This record gives sequence, structure tokens and C-alpha cells, in this order.
Amino acid sequence: MSNSETRRKAASARLEQIRTKSASFRPHEEEKCIFAADVMLGRLAKWLRIAGFNVLYSNKFSDDELISISNREGRILLSRDTRLLVRKSVKTFIYLESENTLDQLKQVLEQIRQARLPALLTRCLSCNEALVEAPRESIQDRVPAFVYKTQSSFKSCPKCGKIFWAGTHRASVLRTLENLLYR
Ligand SMILES: [Zn+2]
Repeated sequence: MSNSETRRKAASARLEQIRTKSASFRPHEEEKCIFAADVMLGRLAKWLRIAGFNVLYSNKFSDDELISISNREGRILLSRDTRLLVRKSVKTFIYLESENTLDQLKQVLEQIRQARLPALLTRCLSCNEALVEAPRESIQDRVPAFVYKTQSSFKSCPKCGKIFWAGTHRASVLRTLENLLYR
């Protein structure tokens, strides 16, 4: 057998193992699912945060750290890395089938059976911190004048200080998410 053939066989054996393992996946019933995304899934992590999900994402974690944090905090591990997911220590996970971010998002929302729109704009997109209401007066010199004039409500991140507002793309984000919800 050639090397590439051996590798292909090993990869498909891993995939088979992962599909079997993930067949036992059950979404949490009551409380909202929380996630940890591996380093390759930055765009997915960002979309999930836009939707309001708590998603741990950092390029500083080793595989071992990512797995142990996920287990400790009850986070669903998101990954496309079959070598990572076959490991015995990996418990609750979603193996993302597609390389496309919106397909991945759809798969996640389907697997956790998310049928309603989550809480949009409640998480900092950079550091995952829960946003807090920011009084309009307090942020006047921290956002563009046009934004200040046209927006009525603002939120800020207690950790990094970034200011967020609904903005003009809110409608299209909502439409995108609505189309991806579990039916
Ligand atoms: Zn932040």
C-alpha cells in the first residue's frame, strides 16, 4: 500500500470513529449551550458570538488545554480536526463537516436544535465577555458622530471596552441566522 493510501485509510477510519462517537451527542435541554472552538474555527466562533453564544476561542490553547477546559466548563468542543476529536478525553463535541462558515453555523444550530433566534449582540466579538448597556452620554466621544446621531442604544464590553451598536447590518444578520435555524 502506498503512503498516501495508508494516510487516506487512517483518515477515513478516524472519521468513522468520530461519527460513531458523535451519534451519542445530545444537546442540553434547558440551559443554553456553551462552546469552545478550536483554532481553525475563528469565523464560526465570531458568528456564534454575534448570535449571542458563549464561545471560548483563542490561539493560545494547546489541544490538551482546550479539551480539559471544555470538559471542566461543560463546553461543546467544535472542531474539524479528526486527530483531536478521536482522543478519548474528548467528550461532548461537534465535528464540523464543511469548510464553509455558514454551513458550519447551520450544522451547529441544527445539532443543538436551536429553533429560536438567540440573543443577538450580547457578547463581545473579540473577547466573548457579556456586554453591558452603555448610557448614550457616556460613549459620545468613543463612536463616530454619525453613529452617535443615528443609533439610540449602545453596549460596551467590560473587559476590552469596545462599543457595540445594532448598526445597519442587523437586518441582514438576522435574516442569515433565521435561515440557518433548526426546523
Ligand atoms: Zn471585549
